[in-house]
Amino acid sequence: MEKKRESEEDKGRLCRRCKQSYSPASNTPSSCRFHPSFFVCRRHDDQKRYYELGPKDPPYAAKFYDCCGAEDPEASGCTTSFHVSYDDD
Ligand SMILES: [Zn+2]
Ligand SMILES: [Zn+2]
Repeated sequence: MEKKRESEEDKGRLCRRCKQSYSPASNTPSSCRFHPSFFVCRRHDDQKRYYELGPKDPPYAAKFYDCCGAEDPEASGCTTSFHVSYDDD
């Protein structure tokens, strides 16, 4: 068992959070960029409008990450941490 794990570590692992492969040896607290919250579609909590409304949008329309307000689903993460492998709980 231990031997198998070591060879898997040599190959690198896939992060289940950002879906990037990484080497456990170079996994640092700033390796993984992600959004800790979900991409949602609703009014911003603070009523601030980060999003330019189109003429047909309802006045409350907004799609954004609940954690940081980023409105691009492809926006890079606002938080960094260690990568999380599928082996970790
Ligand atoms: Zn975020
Ligand atoms: Zn990651």
